[in-house]
Amino acid sequence: MSTIFGKIIRKEIPATIVYEDDQALAFEDLHAAAPFHVLVIPKKEIVNVGSLTPEDAALVGHVLWVCQKVAKDAGFSDFRVVTNSGAGAGQSVFHLHFHVLAGRSLSWPPG
Ligand code: AMP
Repeated sequence: MSTIFGKIIRKEIPATIVYEDDQALAFEDLHAAAPFHVLVIPKKEIVNVGSLTPEDAALVGHVLWVCQKVAKDAGFSDFRVVTNSGAGAGQSVFHLHFHVLAGRSLSWPPG
């Protein structure tokens, strides 16, 4: 099922894209929770980590590589990568995405 992130992939709605290749897209979160807050997604429509299959392993590895790239390209050596899997874990958009957060002190555990 397509989501708002599918619309961003297809350029049907605007987003501030910071990285794109044939497999992945990275764009600024609309409601930034840190000075740097980018979402990195696979272009393949995967719901969340909980729905991954072994066939997705290389793709997810690539998406994580993009996570570190966008943070480092923005000048951050320290950053957080987090993903919510399921509504009870805070997921609101059901297309797999990794939040990349940086630019402020980040406490642990998250709420
Ligand atoms: P989650 O709650 O983990 O599913 O995260 C979804 C994230 O998507 C939230 O941080 C939202 O601010 C963000 N978001 C929702 N719609 C858009 C959009 N059109 N462009 C950019 N970020 C969005």
